[in-house]
Amino acid sequence: MNRITENLRRINSDIRSAESHSKREANSVQLLAVSKTKPSSDIIEAYQAGQRHFGENYLQEALTKQKELSHYQIIWHFIGPIQSNKTKQIAENFSWVHSVDRLKIAQRLSNQRPDSLPPLNICLQVNISQEESKAGIKLTELASMIKQIEQLPGIKLRGVMAIPEPAQGYEQQRQPYRLLHQTIKALKKPELDTFSFGMTRDLKAAIIEGATIIRIGTALFGTRT
Ligand SMILES: *Cc1c(COP(=O)(O)O)cnc(C)c1O
Repeated sequence: MNRITENLRRINSDIRSAESHSKREANSVQLLAVSKTKPSSDIIEAYQAGQRHFGENYLQEALTKQKELSHYQIIWHFIGPIQSNKTKQIAENFSWVHSVDRLKIAQRLSNQRPDSLPPLNICLQVNISQEESKAGIKLTELASMIKQIEQLPGIKLRGVMAIPEPAQGYEQQRQPYRLLHQTIKALKKPELDTFSFGMTRDLKAAIIEGATIIRIGTALFGTRT
């Protein structure tokens, strides 16, 4: 078995155990394979081992790989920072965007989504640890932002993405995710069904607090150079 296949099996098995430990339904948490900086050959290895969802951060790099891999049934997620001059190509070439952090970006993605494609799935990136330097919507602005964004026809608001600041213990890791999950649940919008929450270091905490997508790069593909 090659290295990526082995890593993929281990990560999926970690996700399944965390689901079961958290009394979550089996397969309710999906792995997003973060392939930024990694060659198409690595993506093919993971694909052949069953992985279908891949996440990219840099548009030009992603477009090159999408061209090389156009014969594979890959579901592409954009998870990096978004400049407004990049929205058109993102709207045309991805199924999901996790990193929408302002209304203007959502409006542009909606306007620029081709009619021939289904609405673009969107998660709002929330600055859950209230770090001044970090991208993301403030928790206090979330409800009003959702109201504006859910009207846009070219996109389908699916939920939230968060990258909390690293925390030491399991309990500390859980807190920001719990707060964000409760905030969304309180809105009583069942169509907001996506919580793009955890990474390698906090997978268990994210899953017990409702993650539906775990984003993992290094543990699957190895360190980036
Ligand atoms: C790079 C990245 C990841 C994956 O990080 P690793 O440490 O390589 O697992 C997850 N989410 C986002 C938003 C990223 O940019």
